[in-house]
Amino acid sequence: MENKSDRRPAILLIYTGGTIGMKEDPVDGTLKPFDFKAVMSEVPELAKFGIRIDSYTFSPLIDSSDVETSLWLDLAILIRDRYDEFDGFVILHGTDTMAYSASVVSFMLKGLGKPVIFTGSQLPIGRPRTDGKENLISAVEIAAAKDENGAPMVPEVCICFNSQLFRACRATKISATGFDAFASPNFPPLAVAGINIKYNRDLIRPVPKIPFKVHTVLDPRVSVLKMHPGMTAQAASDILLGSGTRAVILETYGSGNAISKSWFLDIVREAVAMGKVILNITQCLAGNVDMDVYATGRALKDIGVLSGRDMTTEAALAKLFTMLGEHPDDNETVKARIGTDLRGEITLGTPYLRHINFQTTV
Ligand code: ASP
Repeated sequence: MENKSDRRPAILLIYTGGTIGMKEDPVDGTLKPFDFKAVMSEVPELAKFGIRIDSYTFSPLIDSSDVETSLWLDLAILIRDRYDEFDGFVILHGTDTMAYSASVVSFMLKGLGKPVIFTGSQLPIGRPRTDGKENLISAVEIAAAKDENGAPMVPEVCICFNSQLFRACRATKISATGFDAFASPNFPPLAVAGINIKYNRDLIRPVPKIPFKVHTVLDPRVSVLKMHPGMTAQAASDILLGSGTRAVILETYGSGNAISKSWFLDIVREAVAMGKVILNITQCLAGNVDMDVYATGRALKDIGVLSGRDMTTEAALAKLFTMLGEHPDDNETVKARIGTDLRGEITLGTPYLRHINFQTTV
């Protein structure tokens, strides 16, 4: 219950599930979510920060492999409804799909002026060597941080993991087992937590000059086709020409290259002629699509495939879900706007390069 004379920063801690709050099932030995109060009691250090923490637990708690669009809607609506009560929001979420959820939520929240920080862990919080405590403590501290004018330090949707703060729509999961589970290959971290938390203030986006508003219509009729040698025409056309897709992300090789054989280009041409949005995203972790470098990329550009530049697949999917939802039956507007920078998800000028450290801890 809110106490009006309580001047401490207030954070809403939202628990959706994931390894951070899981426990071993004594019967079958698998990890399953457990009660949130137990998570909090594992981190008594949080009480020392002078931050008021309220919590909200989703029901049922899920492994993030089971995330559906309804969870994103629930999260966005919860933040909207409690926006004025809190200085920031921390979302505990499984790591497997965290980059997808954080990316979608970042596009759903327009004019965001407060921190929304996703975190989780590779080891359950009750385990002696858990990374969950550090991640949770840093996320809460960052969500409550203010600058010298009393404004939120990071008014963005982010992922806080292994002492680094990444912009949500730039982050991707890079390790199934290491504590450094996430990276932001094409954009530097917004903050690094050491003895103190160091903020990269030049990179943090200012509070937008538009009122806070939540976009609640998503259209998930988007698919991802990952290029691979040996792809059959049947597999390509099932995805590109299927009636269930308004947009397809082509996960291409290198700087945006795909099979240059006429059977493949004909299928892509037909998909474009059907009015679908076909977006080129590289399957490389770092670097960007440039369809003018190789003939195989140029052929896609000439057909009408759009460049996703240096966007992650997660950000591209999230952007398409929200844009298609915003523009029902209007793929042309989506095509015209997909290349614009909405949340810092895409580099329109000189790309940042090599902001990645692949040395994972195991
Ligand atoms: N399978 C878990 C999940 O994503 C993994 C994790 O939390 O790290 O919910």
